[in-house]
Amino acid sequence: MNVLVLNCGSSSVKFQIIQTDLEAIKNDQDKMLAKGYLERIGSQAIITLQAIGQPPLRTAEPIRDHKAALNYIIRWINDPNTKIEGIKDLSDIHAIGHRIVHGAERFKKSILIDDEVIDQIEECIPLAPLHNPANLKGVYAARDVFPGVPQVAVFDTAFHSTMPEENYLYAIPYQLYRRFKIRRYGFHGTSHRYIAYRYRKIKGIEREQVNIITLHLGNGCSACAIKNGFSLDTSMGMTPLEGLVMGTRSGDIDPAIIEFLIHNEGTSIEEVFNVLNKRSGLLGISGLTNDMRDLLAEEQEHNDRRASLAINIFCNRIKKYIGAYLAELNGADAICFTGGIGENSPEVRRRCLSNLDFFGIKLDDELNEKAVGIKEMKISAPDSRIEVYVIATNEELLIARDTLRVILNVPRIW
Ligand code: ADP
Repeated sequence: MNVLVLNCGSSSVKFQIIQTDLEAIKNDQDKMLAKGYLERIGSQAIITLQAIGQPPLRTAEPIRDHKAALNYIIRWINDPNTKIEGIKDLSDIHAIGHRIVHGAERFKKSILIDDEVIDQIEECIPLAPLHNPANLKGVYAARDVFPGVPQVAVFDTAFHSTMPEENYLYAIPYQLYRRFKIRRYGFHGTSHRYIAYRYRKIKGIEREQVNIITLHLGNGCSACAIKNGFSLDTSMGMTPLEGLVMGTRSGDIDPAIIEFLIHNEGTSIEEVFNVLNKRSGLLGISGLTNDMRDLLAEEQEHNDRRASLAINIFCNRIKKYIGAYLAELNGADAICFTGGIGENSPEVRRRCLSNLDFFGIKLDDELNEKAVGIKEMKISAPDSRIEVYVIATNEELLIARDTLRVILNVPRIW
């Protein structure tokens, strides 16, 4: 089955076409056939399209909306000059898998999209006003331009639906949970689930034996404590603003700061949240950039104090969560790094795990340095009590696999 995986943001569409079936999943031989990214939709869009094995095609064209973006992708797929392996035209796209950010308490696993599911995703909008409307634009557009093709929703929150009340409730009046469903939902669930699945494969163990901490460190960052194969706790909350320090998001802060800013700076509530979401984190502390690679370069080449501070606050927050999750899990067998930073920065991994000898965590410095841009690798020393891995995430692959399983109605292995 060829699955078109769609990840729609407010002004962007990211896609992959992935060939998968049950045999391919078993042997880990699913194939990415094509990928693309259309950004700045709504004005002059920047478009990158690539059939795997062919050079990428880059262009800029006005694209009005998400429907126009999907029509653009379709024209490219149908174009006889586009050489996507095994795909001649649109009829070779058999299903569509959508990344949906917020499934609230309603969606605990991936599901075939119908009118009722769409209504329920719409009902989740108050909890994710920035994300779900954009994801839904992709769903509406895909239903229009791919009539009759089955579509599946895969939720970022679903993996965390197993968290116990003690971990998902905030210590605010319980009625607020009852009335508004204010609670921790957690995000990046597809990524944490994929990493836990790969860890199980690497170790050759059963799901119930997976007791690990996963660290997804990209532009957005989150940690997850996984006990007996299930999400026990995670750092993002009702929204993706809570938890670790991120590229532009603050992560945990004292909520009283919000009131302080409104009173003392005369800032509107919208502006405060704009600051916390878009002008904080690595960018806010360094005053330079949200890009970890550039911060590491600034620190090394110019000895920039604030770049250094930003990196250290980022790593220290991760260390705190590792400590908290080791306590919650009563110890873990492994810590797994993923995401753009987790997969590519030995220096960040080193700082996150420095001075954790008490827990018996020891990196192998050489292996850590080597683990850049690889698929998966163990980077802890042989005598480390807790193993450390770098595992490249692949949310699109998991979305394609979920889409296949939902359509075939076969149970998910994970
Ligand atoms: P997103 O969350 O948008 O998917 P990514 O997972 O691609 O983001 O992660 C982006 C982050 O990864 C950026 O901060 C970038 O600087 C960082 N990154 C990528 N390569 C490296 C590297 N070699 N060293 C340090 N950081 C890196």
